[in-house]
Amino acid sequence: MEIEIEVVSDYLYVGSGQLELRSIQGREQVCYVFARQNETLIIPGTSLKGAIRGIVEALSNSCVRIKARNESVPSRAHEGCEYKKGEREALCPACRLFGTTGYRGRVHFADATPVGEVRPEIIKIADLWPPRQIQGRKFYQNKAHQRLDLKPAKNHRFLEAVPKGARFQTNLFFENLLEEELGLLARALGLDLHSEDPQWVVKLGGAKPRCLGGVRFIPRRIRLLGEGSALFSSLLNGGSASEVKPLLARCLAREELLDQEAWKRFRQEARSKDEPCPREVY
Ligand SMILES: [Zn+2]
Repeated sequence: MEIEIEVVSDYLYVGSGQLELRSIQGREQVCYVFARQNETLIIPGTSLKGAIRGIVEALSNSCVRIKARNESVPSRAHEGCEYKKGEREALCPACRLFGTTGYRGRVHFADATPVGEVRPEIIKIADLWPPRQIQGRKFYQNKAHQRLDLKPAKNHRFLEAVPKGARFQTNLFFENLLEEELGLLARALGLDLHSEDPQWVVKLGGAKPRCLGGVRFIPRRIRLLGEGSALFSSLLNGGSASEVKPLLARCLAREELLDQEAWKRFRQEARSKDEPCPREVY
């Protein structure tokens, strides 16, 4: 599946774990830089996979408990799947799709690369985990990320982030998925049966509490490779360019793996909203 990823929050920051010195207002400052491959900005496939897996876990009765104690936990939810050879069906939906120890999984993302020119910017944010003596003074600003000046300040850090509207493209590879599995995956991507455009916002990367990292996944094309001897011919000629919408609609209609309660909550929370975002430590 060819997918475009559009940044819909003010900024997206996906770090490489690297710190670099950058000249900010004439001074060298330590900066958390955006992930790159060679010189190109990328969103690593592993980051995409991790984000989508987390949503699949939440939307299905998968291992890794995310439910609060006072909510009902479906009987199939458990601490973690153990794979026994040849017994894929015994795994929870997330492990069946994304893999677990000893099982590679059947869903993989390529690293996402920029569409057109994507210009990163340096922004300043308050540390997410401040020292304890600064007690959580809540300070909310109207809407979205609050831009701070670029003066160095205690308990703040510089991030290299890409702005709203930036676009990336990636390929999602899936092998031998059941329709209900592809339906679950599509939901985790924020795709919906009833809307022309995907409207659910998926959170990606770092500094989510600072209202960074909201993206939309836009499926552009699905190519299916046949099985058996047809596999080789379809590998040669590129497979059949399946219509995205009818296929997704068919899969989204299959709700066997969906936890309806979790789906309802996800839709409420993932809907893009103009709510204030805390600016300072909290
Ligand atoms: Zn599992």
